[in-house]
This record gives sequence, C-alpha cells and structure tokens, in this order.
Amino acid sequence: MKSPMDIGSFIWCNGKILNSYKSISVPLLAQSINYGFGAFEAMRTKEIDGGTLIFRLKDHIERLFYSANKLLYPLEDKFTREEIQQATQCVIYKNKIPQVYIRISLYFGDIFPGFKISKDNMHIAVLAFPMAYPFCNEIRVTIAEKRKDSRNTMVDIKGSGQYQIFTYERERAKQKGFDDALFLDNNNNIAEGVGSNIFLVKDKILYTPPLENILPGVTRNSVLKFASDLGYDVIEEHIPYSQLMEFSEAFFVGTAMGVLPIKQINDYQFSSMNVGLEFQRYYHNITEGKIDKYSSWLTKVVF
Ligand code: PMP
Repeated sequence: MKSPMDIGSFIWCNGKILNSYKSISVPLLAQSINYGFGAFEAMRTKEIDGGTLIFRLKDHIERLFYSANKLLYPLEDKFTREEIQQATQCVIYKNKIPQVYIRISLYFGDIFPGFKISKDNMHIAVLAFPMAYPFCNEIRVTIAEKRKDSRNTMVDIKGSGQYQIFTYERERAKQKGFDDALFLDNNNNIAEGVGSNIFLVKDKILYTPPLENILPGVTRNSVLKFASDLGYDVIEEHIPYSQLMEFSEAFFVGTAMGVLPIKQINDYQFSSMNVGLEFQRYYHNITEGKIDKYSSWLTKVVF
C-alpha cells in the first residue's frame, strides 16, 4: 500500500491527461496561493472485483458547479458537468488504484494582478490518491472557537480559502488534547464538524441540523435516505448545544471518514456508539455495492 499522499501519477488538467502530477507547477504569485481563491470537491471509491465503484459521482460534480457558480467562477464557460465526470472516471481508470480519494481542484494558478476573477487564469485538475478509512472509531471532540454563520460566510460551498478556519480549529482541538472540533452556529446550536456533518441519537430517532449553517454533505444526504432501512426516523432541526446531554450518541459523517462515532464532546461522554457503528457498517455495504436499492449512487470503473 502506498502512503496516503502518494498521488496517482496520472492526473487530468484542463482537458488533458498528464503522465505526472509533477508536470504542473503553480507560481508563488498565483491568486490561489496569495488569496486562497479556488473551490474543490472530494469523493471516494471502493474496490470491487476487476475495478472500483465511485460513490455519488454526479452529486459531487453538481456541488462543484454549485460552489463555482456561487463564487462567480466561470466554470460552466469552460467545462460541462459530463466532461468533469468523464475526467474523474478517466483518472481512476488510468491510475488503476482500487480504493482512492479523488480530489478535484479548481484553482487560479497563474500570476494575475489583484482580485479579478478571469477564466483565462482558471484551471481545473483531477487527482487520485490511495486512502483507507480511519481505524479510529471513537473520537473526542471540542467546541470550535469560531461560529458557522450563513449570513456572513458561504457555509454551503467547498471554497478553498474557507478551510483556513477549519484547519485552525482542528489544530486548536489537537493542541487541547481532542481529535476534532465541532462548530456551533451564532445561536449556540450544533452546526457541523471540520469536514463533516453530525447526527445525534435519542431513542430510535436521529437528529441533524437543517441546511442553514452547514455544508450540504453528500454523506449526510445519504444517511437521510437510508436511515429508515435501519429503523430510524430522522428529524432535521436546530439542536441547542445546551441540550447535548439529552442524546445517547452522536456521529460525524463525511466523505473522508464515512461514518465516525463520537465518544465525547467536551466533558460530556455519550453512553453508547452502537448506532454509529451500525450506520457505519451499512454505509460501507452501500458504497461496496452490496445493497441493490442504492446501485444508482455508484459509478463503476472497470480496470
Ligand atoms: N461539512 C464540511 C465543512 C465539509 O468540508 C465536509 C466534507 N466535504 C462535510 C461537511 C461533509 O460533506 P460530504 O459528506 O459531502 O463529504
């Protein structure tokens, strides 16, 4: 197994497959480096006999276009959704790595003056690197210092610069002895994690914050759709942080971690992780193509 950051040598950039990611270089004065301009998307594949399955390819590409449009990046002037989908499949096929993390990066990679957004300076690349799911199954989380607030920031897109606050919060959490951070919104409701959405469990009901101050996660959307298969109702509503102790369990969901049970938030220890683990198993079964009714979520690449 290669190391997690061992990028597959074939990448797609601006319409072409290149033999080596090293053939792309970005100057230090590029807008993406100076100002954090850019948007990105991430998705995963699971190994099957003779190839791999991409989880919710179309939905991830749709969110990339949503992010680009919202940021006024002229992605639609350059590429169609279908072209980016094909580029993703092509990178996976060329690299033939069965279980990959795909990164689509829209960046402004030339020396360009000031803040002007120009399609001449806009690039898009698709990379793949091998990545396993985390082994850790019981993370401890602290409350982030900053808040999620859709009135002042674009919480519903994957814009590159925004992730500065997220990396700050994760680092801060680690320095405090926790594994990750949980954001609240401006009204002290639970919002989302760093790179994840959250579900909380009370009896046979899952609770998750509404799409107001959070990223509309593809994994969150999947859980909303398959929860009833496991006998759970889901309620999307604001969850005041002050009511945390009413819940027996919580878990994060996201492309990078799948479903990850939370053991503790600040001082509060949850009494169980069973529901999280049950959802984790079911999610993996879906992504591995073992649950027929979700086969439309999977795009097969045959090696
Ligand atoms: N919230 C944020 C802020 C994220 O960065 C992510 C990761 N994309 C998520 C939630 C989870 O989204 P998804 O399930 O689409 O990966």
